[in-house]
Amino acid sequence: MSNIDGHTILIGLMAYPIRHSMSPTMHNAAFEKLNLNYAYLAFDIDSDRLAAGVNAIRTLDMRGINVSMPNKQKIIPYLDHLDISAELNQAVNTVVNDHGVLTGYTTDGIGFVTDLRKKGHDVKGKRMVVTGAGGAGTPIAIQSAIDGLAEVKIFNNADGHFANAQRNAKIINERTDCKAQVYDLADQDAFKQAIAEADIYCDATGVGMKPLENESLINDPSWFKPDLVVFDTVYSPRETKLMRIAKQAGVKHVYNGLGMMIEQGAASFKLWTGQDMPIDVVEQQIA
Ligand code: NAD
Repeated sequence: MSNIDGHTILIGLMAYPIRHSMSPTMHNAAFEKLNLNYAYLAFDIDSDRLAAGVNAIRTLDMRGINVSMPNKQKIIPYLDHLDISAELNQAVNTVVNDHGVLTGYTTDGIGFVTDLRKKGHDVKGKRMVVTGAGGAGTPIAIQSAIDGLAEVKIFNNADGHFANAQRNAKIINERTDCKAQVYDLADQDAFKQAIAEADIYCDATGVGMKPLENESLINDPSWFKPDLVVFDTVYSPRETKLMRIAKQAGVKHVYNGLGMMIEQGAASFKLWTGQDMPIDVVEQQIA
């Protein structure tokens, strides 16, 4: 950041509230390490100022932005193009500005798939169970399906997000070769059976973080087999109750969401700069 000069290129984060975000720390550390003349700043942009925010991308010739709530869906009408990741998710977390032409991407699912691949687990041909169909569960299921997942079973409470789970399954069945089914999470027999048949279980509900840090959707260790991959999107705390139970049950591969969070940032970083984010530097910054 000390190298800011007349050529520095601006990248931003537009969301509200946003001051808690780790993205500025992550990206600025990576720019500094690679000696790239970029700066990343967070801007409090609520929906009512989103149109002005998007205009600013073009006016200030920013290279792009990250988008978070409440703007992930609302930004779509202001963009020129959507990548398939954003089109199928109907949400955007990254915008790239190519000389005034704005393209939207969703890198959260790419972050999940990349993190798993780097840990030795390719989603291609696998069967996965996902709990949750919100901001994390949607891109996880959809990107995994785009990348060759064979089957996904989506479990959700019959609350407001159940319709979202059904929408996700419909899109996956219509637009990819993956077979998707939706279940009510209250159907514990179906849930147990699906876990027994799965290669990967991803909990994307946020159960396990505050205020539910002492809760888990699976409390019986006998549900787990040792070769199941268990992934919790929560990264604070670094170990959730679900992860503890899975480890106690002898599951060998149990992960939190930190790697996914870093890899979604790395995917955005690559789109803006063309360079690979130095993951080790970023990990040290946010450890
Ligand atoms: P969201 O509110 O958009 O969706 C939450 C989903 O979980 C919904 O489908 C909801 O129906 C379900 N749910 C909520 N409470 C539940 C409960 N008590 N029991 C069962 N199901 C429940 O939230 P989100 O943005 O998808 O975030 C979910 C979690 O993922 C949070 O912990 C968040 O921190 C984490 N997250 C991690 C990353 C990452 O990069 N690692 C990215 C995004 C979100």
